[in-house]
Amino acid sequence: MNLTARILLGMGLGLVLGIFINTLGQISWVPSAVNEWLSWALVDGILDVIGAIFLASLKLLVVPLVFVSLVCGCSALGDNTRMGTMAAKTLALYLLTTAIAISLALIMANLIQPGVGMNMGEQITFVPKDAPSIKDVFINIFPSNPIKAMAEGNMLQIIVFSLLMGVAVSKSGEPGRKVQELFVHLNEVVMKMVVILMHLAPYGVFCMIAKLFANLGYGAIADLIKYFLTVVLVLVLHGIGVYSLILTSLTRLSPLTFFTNIRPAILFAFSTSSSSATLPVTLNVAEHRLGVDNSVASFTLPLGATINMDGTAIMQGVATVFIAQAFNVDIGLGGYLMVIATATLASIGTAGVPGVGLITLAMVLQQVGLPVEGIAVIIGVDRLLDMMRTVVNVSGDSMVTTVIANSENMLDRDQFSDLSDLDEYNEIVKK
Ligand code: ASP
Repeated sequence: MNLTARILLGMGLGLVLGIFINTLGQISWVPSAVNEWLSWALVDGILDVIGAIFLASLKLLVVPLVFVSLVCGCSALGDNTRMGTMAAKTLALYLLTTAIAISLALIMANLIQPGVGMNMGEQITFVPKDAPSIKDVFINIFPSNPIKAMAEGNMLQIIVFSLLMGVAVSKSGEPGRKVQELFVHLNEVVMKMVVILMHLAPYGVFCMIAKLFANLGYGAIADLIKYFLTVVLVLVLHGIGVYSLILTSLTRLSPLTFFTNIRPAILFAFSTSSSSATLPVTLNVAEHRLGVDNSVASFTLPLGATINMDGTAIMQGVATVFIAQAFNVDIGLGGYLMVIATATLASIGTAGVPGVGLITLAMVLQQVGLPVEGIAVIIGVDRLLDMMRTVVNVSGDSMVTTVIANSENMLDRDQFSDLSDLDEYNEIVKK
């Protein structure tokens, strides 16, 4: 069986086990001792341990991979002006897609009106975590200590440092060439580590999904079904419709082939809820299946995993309208424009780890004077939405990367279109 099939199987079995454990907990004649034991030994025991090890093993690769791969790619580009135009194009496209995502979310939420009639009072007391200020988001891009940036996994700072180093390597003549060669070899080795650890995925995914569904009650979803479905609808519209449209109009490539190619990244994003933890897989997929040159992927993907969060922006847009309606507040047209601006910026400040979108939502709500307590209302269904929005986040990064690579003549279009490659890819992973 190939990797995708095994991950899917792990996901399906995990879902069945999780729902089974959850249902057992609701049945009155099952002795509570059985449920307590299950939750102690299985859910918070084995499943939690293996799931956590899997996640840790993915995160372990992120910093070395981004650093090595980016120095490699940037020094290979050599020419700074090319790096500059590529960076500008990438940033523009990331911001544009996020702005489209949030606008679509606002329009759809206003049409569907998920929160009307809920009449949430002020009875909820909820203390949100502090969202970072926009000023801090900008200042924090620049590292004062590269080792600290790496120890903390601060992606933007690592990107800045790696770019600087890559440029320096390309400008250092003979010594630079030697260092570059070393980095090219290191890159191979780190990519090999990704492939080795991908074998853990089916088991890790099984444990994470089983634990999630064992803990998730149905009740939480029932009350919020309209909100939940609105977010899912906009995620699908944007993730499939808008991305396909942009991809075909800018590159004339087939969206179907694109989505088939990025399947492993989609599965990892869904099961980890983290663009950052998925990054090793996204990079691997971009270089080996989409045919994107390392010099482009190594820059655009780590950047995207950090600042490009279309799925998160969509959740924030729908959530804002939902909370405004549920609390009977009218934020007006100016309010909506403000939401577009802040949610786009918030998506830059959202780290690619589970649940952070909900924290930066506080920033958006505060900006338009909505009660931050509203977050407490939607928190119950956020875990599931997080999985789906992370898929959109990662697909968006991959789509923009493909478009940029194509515009820079750094895309191997034959490799992109050759789906028979997939067997070969699976072979690489198997080995
Ligand atoms: N989990 C999302 C991601 O990693 C971020 C979020 O929306 O919370 O892409």
